[in-house]
Amino acid sequence: MKSLIGKRFGKLIVIKLSNQKDKYYHRFWLCLCDCGNKKLAMTGSLNAGTVKSCGCIQKGINLGKLHGRWKGNDVGYHGVHDWVKRNKPKPKFCENCHKIKKLELANISQEYKRDINDYEWICRKCHQTKDGRNKRLIEAATKAKLGKKQTPEHIAKRNAWRKRG
Ligand SMILES: [Zn+2]
Ligand SMILES: [Zn+2]
Repeated sequence: MKSLIGKRFGKLIVIKLSNQKDKYYHRFWLCLCDCGNKKLAMTGSLNAGTVKSCGCIQKGINLGKLHGRWKGNDVGYHGVHDWVKRNKPKPKFCENCHKIKKLELANISQEYKRDINDYEWICRKCHQTKDGRNKRLIEAATKAKLGKKQTPEHIAKRNAWRKRG
């Protein structure tokens, strides 16, 4: 058996051959992951690249996704508003028309993300114009989604019902 000691596979470095065997008498290599965890892996899995970490790579990806999915509903609309106000100080003039007016905090995506780039300080007039446009966009998107549901399967099903009746 070719020694893999000292070799690197992704985040794993092979330390030694472990005494552990599976039911086919395959030997496992004891590896040290960059995160500090130890991992037992077989030559085949290491060479094939199917094992690249103790499992922390996968966990890291999932954690990232979880954080990215942060939505305003977790703390409520007002919680997000306060958070944005703390992190995005109110400018002197409207970020849209650059006029000095009374400003309102507007959410761009309408998803109330915990992302200051998703908010802008704009005047009431710009806010209303933008909200109106957003509403139209959302309505159009909803219509498109509903339209998609009318797949050939749906139509065939509906026609089948009609025939039966
Ligand atoms: Zn790890
Ligand atoms: Zn404005």
